[in-house]
Amino acid sequence: MDSYDLIILGGGLAGMCAAVEAGEQGANILLLEKQDELGGSTVLSSGYMAFAGTNMQEKEGILDSTESLLADMVEVGGGVNEPSLVEAYGSQQLETYQWLVDHGVEFRSLEAVSGHSVPRGHIIDPHQAIQSLYKRVKQLPNVQICFNCPASRLQKNGTGRIDTVLYQADGEERKAVAAKGVLIASGGFAKSEELLGQFAPQLKGALRIGGAGNQGDGIRMAWEHGAWVKDLPYLNGTYGFHPSAAGKLKSQGLAFYKGAIMVNQLGKRFVNESISYKLLGKAAFEQPEQISYQVWDQTVMEKGVFDDPLYDFELLKRRRLLYKAETLEELADCIDVPADVLEDTIYRYNQSVQNGVDPDFGRKALTHNYGKPTAIEKAPFYAFESTVAMLATYAGVALNAKAQVLNPYGEPIPGLYAAGEVTGGFHGAGYMTGSSLGKAAVFGRIGVWAAMEQNAVV
Ligand SMILES: Cc1cc2nc3c(=O)[nH]c(=O)nc-3n(C[C@H](O)[C@H](O)[C@H](O)COP(=O)(O)OP(=O)(O)OC[C@H]3O[C@@H](n4cnc5c(N)ncnc54)[C@H](O)[C@@H]3O)c2cc1C
Repeated sequence: MDSYDLIILGGGLAGMCAAVEAGEQGANILLLEKQDELGGSTVLSSGYMAFAGTNMQEKEGILDSTESLLADMVEVGGGVNEPSLVEAYGSQQLETYQWLVDHGVEFRSLEAVSGHSVPRGHIIDPHQAIQSLYKRVKQLPNVQICFNCPASRLQKNGTGRIDTVLYQADGEERKAVAAKGVLIASGGFAKSEELLGQFAPQLKGALRIGGAGNQGDGIRMAWEHGAWVKDLPYLNGTYGFHPSAAGKLKSQGLAFYKGAIMVNQLGKRFVNESISYKLLGKAAFEQPEQISYQVWDQTVMEKGVFDDPLYDFELLKRRRLLYKAETLEELADCIDVPADVLEDTIYRYNQSVQNGVDPDFGRKALTHNYGKPTAIEKAPFYAFESTVAMLATYAGVALNAKAQVLNPYGEPIPGLYAAGEVTGGFHGAGYMTGSSLGKAAVFGRIGVWAAMEQNAVV
């Protein structure tokens, strides 16, 4: 049986950050990846990472701070985020940003998205990020990656410490021993109908988009050894995908964060459009037949951002996913909503923008506390039918600020660490864009530091 210091399960952002960090410390590492390539959901993502106080923000004159980032995160999370995890993120976020830059990860631009009071979505090309970490791993002879090697079970040694991983390789079951522990970084369960059916039956009609290997294997392995789970009641999909997206990317548009409104099939608004797109998804699924549209005008159209995964509205137009009309009446006809109701909805919304008070839903900003809504008045007008996709599960094993997996009594399970989407408790009841890739990078490294402090007990 092969022996290592640390065994990492999964080669997405969390696993790759952990592998590089541990490898650079000289530890002997095995990373098991279920698929034949790295990246999981990370490489499908829009690439937004939530960091505050960076040199990129400074260059653009954006004032931000760790305190402000954490305050937004807790507000968006409904105050039920685990404080120690939020604090751990705060203590490492800026250093992690710099560490990624130092390891060749390129940050392209900044945008404000869900939950941001200032533009702090630092956008990476996730393929480039994973490849640059992989390049570093290949320079480290002490880090071995095994592709097509799904981990299946964990075992404890005689002292009750998790130290053995059972996995498949070349059609055989193998075992490897980890003297300092096992770090689960196997992502969420957006691709497990069984777990989604069990924990999020309300999302039956949501599209499924996520890494093919993300079937909750890590959660099951941790459960078997007594892990507690957190945030399951807050599982929500992400709003803003065209219903035809089904697995295809580039069919998403978040025009509501640039000033669009959302209407249902009755032509009525139903929510404050500036809140987390997870909560927008929940509200959209409560509408008649779960049908809803984003509606905007030329002013919003011109705020689109070329080549941005969330804001490239011209791309949606080129892909014929938008309805465009010179009048609201014509637009209503295109989407089959009563024209007089749609006109009235927009009249009322425009009044609220003018008065600075939205008596219906309390919208004050474009996204979270950032940006001023604008009236929908400049032709042409656009409508984008939008639905909910289950992209990322954000509920998972409980952990402490050292990324140690906890049992239901809040005690660490010896030898077991976790990072990334497999973990719960960090986001709470809502979701700030960029905090998932952010937590993968931050806690991937924290887990390594904690594991390396352990004395080898085999
Ligand atoms: C379309 C889309 C857009 C998104 N956009 C954003 C965004 O802009 N910002 C943001 O913060 N988040 C975003 N997310 C969420 C984010 O991408 C994920 O939460 C994050 O990438 C998770 O990283 P991870 O390393 O934990 O997991 P992953 O990147 O999913 O990696 C997990 C890896 O583990 C492997 N694995 C699974 N089971 C096993 C096993 N048994 N043995 C070995 N390996 C296993 C998987 O194959 C996979 O490679 C988005 C997600 C999607 C799908």
